[in-house]
Amino acid sequence: MRIPPEFAFSQNNLQDFVECPRRFELRYLLRQPWPAIQSQPVLEHEQHLRRGEIFHQMVQQHQIGLPVEQISAQAYDQTLLGWWEDYLGSLPQPLPEKRYIEHILQMTHGNYRFLAKFDLIAVQSAEKIIIVDWKTGRRKPARTFLSRRIQTRLYPFLLWKCSAAFDRGISYEPEQIEMIYWFTADPLAPEHFKYSRKQAEQDGEYLLELVQQVEHCTQTYFPLTSQEQRCSLCVYRSLCNRGISAGSAEDEIDEEIDDERLDIAFDQIGETEF
Ligand code: SF4
Repeated sequence: MRIPPEFAFSQNNLQDFVECPRRFELRYLLRQPWPAIQSQPVLEHEQHLRRGEIFHQMVQQHQIGLPVEQISAQAYDQTLLGWWEDYLGSLPQPLPEKRYIEHILQMTHGNYRFLAKFDLIAVQSAEKIIIVDWKTGRRKPARTFLSRRIQTRLYPFLLWKCSAAFDRGISYEPEQIEMIYWFTADPLAPEHFKYSRKQAEQDGEYLLELVQQVEHCTQTYFPLTSQEQRCSLCVYRSLCNRGISAGSAEDEIDEEIDDERLDIAFDQIGETEF
């Protein structure tokens, strides 16, 4: 099996590969339909995902300047209204004025394509670029956990590589880039990750090593994860003989509907490419 030439590596598919190579193969190469529910209770889980989706839309509308009163009407229950009020009251400040919302960047790195969709990029010309990502999971992950996530490594690296697109062709130094995670579960305690050249070099190498591991698996096989607790929240558990019943939604780390899972085709993207 080969990786399709149009395939783009993203935080989601690489995170899947890191957690379970077989899941990567089933989801992205074999495009296996999901045979099982992800977590219990189903209705509550779906409501939570739906709230997260609406919340991201509300923030997007706010960031492009729509009136707060108009956006607030979309908060259809107390939980969503609470998230919205927390967002309005504890927005990471000060954010530079020049904003890019739901912005897609893609680059070629070591002959592989990488892609990311950013919730918010805020640019202060020739000074700094800040990435903000809104997290609507039920709880805030530990900082060490976040620091190891593919998103924390891919997003600033990709932004650094593409930074010339934001300011008349001037490239930014890694030290001018910062990533902020903001959490509905802990709105007063966002996590800030300052970037550096050393980290960027490590991330560039790490990302290449990962995709080379994927290539290697295509020529051999994609092993099942050895950490079987991951299987209880995996939709493929029946295919892998890793149990029947779904795990609890409380155990999920990142419960957002992510549109990178929607098979973004490379030739359909009209955004910044390097
Ligand atoms: S059920 Fe477990 S082994 Fe199978 S794809 Fe999912 S995480 Fe991997």
